[in-house]
Order: sequence, then C-alpha cells, then structure tokens
Amino acid sequence: MPAKEEKDGDEITNPYHIAQRLIERATETLELQEGVYDILKKPKRVMKVSIPVRRDNGDVVNYTGIRAQHTDILGPTKGGVRFHPGVNEDEVIALSMWMSLKTAIVGIPFGGGKGGIIVNPEELSEREIEELSRGFIRELEPIMGPEKDIPAPDVNTNPKIMGWMLDEFDRLRGHNVPGFITGKPLIIGGSEGRVEATGRGVVITIREAAKRLDYDLNKMTAVIQGFGNVGSNAAKYLEESGVKVIGITDAKGGVYNENGLDIASLIEYAKETKTVKGFPGSEDLSNDDLFSLECDILIPAALENQITGDNANQIKAKIVAEAANGPTTPQGNKLLEDNGVFVIPDILCNAGGVTVSYFEWVQNAMHYSWKEKEVAEKLEEKMVDAFKAVYDMRDAKKVKMREAAYLVGVGRLAKAMIARGWIK
Ligand code: GLU
Repeated sequence: MPAKEEKDGDEITNPYHIAQRLIERATETLELQEGVYDILKKPKRVMKVSIPVRRDNGDVVNYTGIRAQHTDILGPTKGGVRFHPGVNEDEVIALSMWMSLKTAIVGIPFGGGKGGIIVNPEELSEREIEELSRGFIRELEPIMGPEKDIPAPDVNTNPKIMGWMLDEFDRLRGHNVPGFITGKPLIIGGSEGRVEATGRGVVITIREAAKRLDYDLNKMTAVIQGFGNVGSNAAKYLEESGVKVIGITDAKGGVYNENGLDIASLIEYAKETKTVKGFPGSEDLSNDDLFSLECDILIPAALENQITGDNANQIKAKIVAEAANGPTTPQGNKLLEDNGVFVIPDILCNAGGVTVSYFEWVQNAMHYSWKEKEVAEKLEEKMVDAFKAVYDMRDAKKVKMREAAYLVGVGRLAKAMIARGWIK
C-alpha cells in the first residue's frame, strides 16, 4: 500500500496511509536507514477469518474477523479487539501500528496488534455476541497466546466479552491461561484500575500539558466526543481535577450545560438509556456544535477521522487531547497546529489503557494482584515519564507534539532493531 498514493494537500482518511506517512517522516527526521521504514511500514502478520454465528432466529450469518500483528520487536504483540460495522483491514493494520508506537512511548515490553470484527453489535443478542466472540478466538488461537499476541477491549468490547474470549482460549488449550487476554473481569485475573486506565491516563496527560502551558485546571472547561469507557472515565477524572465538563456527544446525540454536567449522574443515566441524549438539566447538542463550542479542552474519544480539514478551523479549544485512536486527519492536524492548538497525540494520550493491560499481564505472570492504589501510582509514573519524553523531544527537535511522539516511538523501535542485529 503506497504511502504516497495521495498528493500533499489532499484530505487523507485511510488510517493506514496516515500511519505510514507519519512513521516515514519520523525515520527521515531521525536519519534512520531505509530498512527501518521498510520494516515498520507494513504488519508482520495479518489474519482474516470467517466466523459463522447462528442467530437467535435460526439463520446463520458468517462474520469477518481480522487480526493484525504489526511488530514484535519489543515483545509479544498487544492490542484491543473492536466490534464495529466500519472495521476493515487497513483500519486494523493502522491501529496495530499505533499500538507498536504507544507501547514504545510508555516503555512497556509489547509490540503492536489489533483486531476487529465487521459487525454492528447493537443488532445482536447477548448470546449471539458471545458466540461471535468465542468464534473469533477459535479461529485466531494458533497465532495468539500470552507470549505471542494478547487481545484486550476496544470500541464496543468490554470485560464481559474478554471473559468469554479467555474461557474459549482456556478450553482450546485445556488449562487456564489468564495472561492470554487483558481487560478481563477481576474474578478471573483482571486488574484493579484497568477499566478506568485509559480515561485516567488521558487526564494525566492533560494535567501535564496544563502545567507546561501554565493553565489552571480549575478554571478550564472541556467537551468530549464519545461517552464509552474512555470518554466517561475521562469526564470523571476531569471533573475530579476541577475541570468543568460542559458538553458531551455520543453516536445518538449530545448534551450541554454551561455550568458543567454532573458526570456521576450522567454515567448512571447513560447506563440506563444507552445515550447521554436527553439528560435532565441539559440542552441538546449536536456533534458539529460540540467541535465549535467555546471551551479550553476538546477530547475526541470515539473513532478515527473526526477532526478534518473541514472542521478543524472551527475548534476553539486550546488543547486537543486525543483519547481516540486516529481522530485527526493530517489536514485537520495541520490546521490545529497552525492555529496554535496544543495537540496531545493519540499514541501518547490514550496509552494508559495498554499500560494497565501490561500491569494486568505482569500480575497474571506472578499469580498475584495489586491494589488499585498501586496500579494507579504505577500508571501515573509511566504516563508522566512518557509525556516528558515526548515534550522534551518537541523542544529538542523544535517540532509539534505529534511529530515528537512519533520520533520517540520510532526511535525506540529502531534502537531495538539495532539491538537485535536487524539493522546496523
Ligand atoms: N484498545 C486499547 C488501545 O487502543 C487498549 C489495548 C490494550 O490494552 O491492549 O490502546
């Protein structure tokens, strides 16, 4: 897949091409030999599988699942599995590349992987979702395992689904392998603090950015696109840090309250109604209006390609914290940077999830578990160090945060390639 298929200035929305371009640019800035980009520009392995599921009405539907393993230079490949109708091979590959960079930036011994099933889970019953989840693992079991490739939750997947996936893997192996998957329920080896980890990490990076930029969190407002696991936890920790969360949208609608939304009640409300829409005491808010709201912090916490050449100029926030993977197109990014917006790039901003997944895997290997306080402290240290590494790179190379993050990530991957004798 040529990275240069699109011309400069074109709006690029294929995440695989976006990831390739950014990695290529980093290898050039770091003056690494060509072999580094040649290795990083494509995944080590991609497997596409068919998963027939018997629907409740008796029909059989054959779903497509994909798993991409980008590189295992730093350790077994690692990354979530998403259930979404828009899943496709290029997207899954790009997401696996971003995982490789994320794990390198936070300094954990994992490579990058990602999986997806092309499905709208809202159309399936719980039993059908369980069958689909188990089928995915049955087909991919040969290339998975705690020392090979370790899945986790992502868009529309959760601890319950991880529990089914783990059980299927254990049955196939004939014994319990808790380190096979992360983000699983506590009772079968999950980690304290994993559910909250990505949102908590996002807010740590916002706090670190505010420190550097000399902003007072207690005087700041935020808006969030997406109210799944990441968006809702980010909202919770922002509120705890003194930030007023004034606007939130999800796939079905949005809410606005200039005095700040009550996040605990909103989480309860959204659990019941499956959307934030209609939350008592708030005004309706559309997604387009969310982006152009007067606020200090904008957090895209949904899908790719949300901030584009078309809407980036409307953004008034001073900080964009990318809780989602790939929420900003290159054109959108350029406009944000030209407008002086401080972007905390996805591969740094949302790395808290995989960091606590790593802690979960370590606890599983030790057959021991840490209290939440210990997990939170360890996460704090990793995120603060990672933020510092990227911010220092930004200063050293006089680049913006996104490029700095790629320089840190790609630089560390290249270092490991040298250590392994792949390149000289
Ligand atoms: N899906 C999450 C991400 O995109 C977490 C992956 C993991 O914990 O392995 O980073």
